[in-house]
Amino acid sequence: MNQKTLLSAKKAWKEAEVILVGAGAGMGVDSGLPDFRGNSGFWKAYPPLEKLGIQFEEMANPYWFIKNPSLAWGFYGHRFNLYRKTNPHLGFKILFERHNKEKTPMFVFTSNVDGHFQSAGFTEKQILECHGSLMHFQCLASCGNPIWQVKPELILNIDKNSLLANEPLPSCPGCGSIARPNILMFSDFGWDSQRTYEQKQRFEKWIEEHKNKNLLVIEFGAGTNVPTVRLTCEHVYQSMGENFIRVNPKEHQCGLKNTLSLPMGAEAAIKAIAKNH
Ligand SMILES: [Zn+2]
Repeated sequence: MNQKTLLSAKKAWKEAEVILVGAGAGMGVDSGLPDFRGNSGFWKAYPPLEKLGIQFEEMANPYWFIKNPSLAWGFYGHRFNLYRKTNPHLGFKILFERHNKEKTPMFVFTSNVDGHFQSAGFTEKQILECHGSLMHFQCLASCGNPIWQVKPELILNIDKNSLLANEPLPSCPGCGSIARPNILMFSDFGWDSQRTYEQKQRFEKWIEEHKNKNLLVIEFGAGTNVPTVRLTCEHVYQSMGENFIRVNPKEHQCGLKNTLSLPMGAEAAIKAIAKNH
């Protein structure tokens, strides 16, 4: 790693009055969560799907909730249980302390659906989950019941060999039909975007409130495959940011002027940037 870049990143972190955190799948990898891009990683995490020859892009499709609800809930329930039992890494804590103890206004824009920023202490009001949340469910039949937050005690019972979820499958408290995660899947025309829409409105308000301050945009593990997080971070930096730090072990390049690229993992980068701050 370039020491000069790290020193500049530390300076930007120190001087920032306001911080926008962008986070993609790479943010969760350091907590031990799998990154599903590429068949090898996905099938390693889900051997029964390798046997069936189903790829991530095929499995992450609402169609399975109609065709085979037990398998759909086996897949999402397994992820749900995994996210619940995994603790967010120390980097989350360092970010939260900067916000909480040093009173630095902070907003999180993430494509992750694991709810780990909330687990680390961030409130619902300061997070935009652009692909929704696995910690929230919605009615598959779109009966009009609003999205609901899953109860902390819920654990889904899944057969390891078949990846089928055992009954009872989660159901809608409004009409009793089957529930699905409030995640934006592939070819997903039934996703209820209401919660994310409200988060977007809060994000826009937050941006408006802080546009004249020294704003640092810091982005972690956001890839180019689905570039929503990268594009949002670049856009905010270009329109009002003072500094931009892109942290990514592989895709750390940035075409914008005066940006700082750290080719490393999220947890290591946060520790290095915030050390002796
Ligand atoms: Zn319903």
